[in-house]
Amino acid sequence: MSRRDFLGRVAAGAGAVALAGNGRGATGGTPGRKLGVAICGLGGYATGQLKPAMKLTQNCELRGVVTGTPAKGAAWAQEFGFPEKNIYSYATMARLADNRDIDIVYVATPNSLHPEHTIAAAWAGKHVICEKPMANSVADCGAMMTACRLNKVKLSIGYRLQFEPHYQELKRLARTQEFGPWSKLSGGLSFTMRQMQWRAQKALAGGGPLMDLGIYAVQAACMAAGVGHAGDVPLAITAKERPKQRPEFFRDVEETIDWTMEFPGGAKGEFSTSYNMGLDRFRAESGQGWIEFAPAFQYGGLKVATHKGPLGLAVPPSQQAVQIDDFARCVRDDQPTSVPGELGRRDMVIIEAIYASAAAGGKRIEIKV
Ligand code: NAD
Repeated sequence: MSRRDFLGRVAAGAGAVALAGNGRGATGGTPGRKLGVAICGLGGYATGQLKPAMKLTQNCELRGVVTGTPAKGAAWAQEFGFPEKNIYSYATMARLADNRDIDIVYVATPNSLHPEHTIAAAWAGKHVICEKPMANSVADCGAMMTACRLNKVKLSIGYRLQFEPHYQELKRLARTQEFGPWSKLSGGLSFTMRQMQWRAQKALAGGGPLMDLGIYAVQAACMAAGVGHAGDVPLAITAKERPKQRPEFFRDVEETIDWTMEFPGGAKGEFSTSYNMGLDRFRAESGQGWIEFAPAFQYGGLKVATHKGPLGLAVPPSQQAVQIDDFARCVRDDQPTSVPGELGRRDMVIIEAIYASAAAGGKRIEIKV
């Protein structure tokens, strides 16, 4: 069966077996119990960010890994004190179903593998945090959500900034309109990619900087414009890809793309993302004031000011620890997550519209969810 057929069958429900779920039921739900997390994919983000975060979480602890490199798994097991039986390969993820130590699988593999690993975890009866972007297509997002629904497990996306205090303030300003409704939004995230990696290969990344970096500006714009829920979308998109300066490097993905977003409240956004320059900024302005984030999207050290002066809110030591702990609390208390799969899918709807507009030479595309 091809991967597409596999995902399609899951999305279609796969009959009575699917409706019955995995038969084991999801774990979690005991008040006060620390939940067990297994990280799937021990690459740069898992090692550099999720590992230290898992040493700070209060509601859960690292009790397993899924990795293609057994030696890495053994080193993590030793560091975190979990047994070797809790080291899985991608091919043995189904066996997670028999492991009561693990409640949550955190998927941190390359983008194109998110559906496969999320669906495997869901069918093993595990709740899932999936890294951004949720998948390479809206259709794959749907398949992931279906698998989680059928297996009665929760799904969340690794949008760490949703929990960051300055972004909480951005969301509060959207609610209270203290500085009036924003009329103009702008910014973006870019870096210069020097070494070839999967992020510049369409098969693994689904696209170029828009999938990896531009998605942060999409999220921030939606937070600022107050379209914070999964069903909320901007009205329309226009987009243009810039000519490539290194076409041999960015063979089948964009190198730089600019796009606009029109929101129901009247705000208009102009954004950019690139693998060939530096940019890390977000700004929202109205006739009554402004807020600016620069840097806007880092793991720490965000600098945020309004027309009244620097904001300088106290921040937690790890954005990721807060994000993971919030999901563990939702699982334990059977509460909905504020960052569900629906939000990840919503962003893929927007991203697909951006690519569609660019492919149509900048045509205005109206968004429907
Ligand atoms: P990475 O390349 O450093 O790690 C990827 C891991 O996946 C590696 O351990 C690799 O061995 C494994 N892998 C499994 N199958 C693979 C395959 N077929 N090809 C290549 N690698 C394979 O990448 P990363 O920076 O850790 O990113 C992983 C995910 O995390 C991505 O989806 C990325 O968008 C996301 N991410 C999120 C943030 C954030 O701030 N939320 C930051 C960085 C990365």
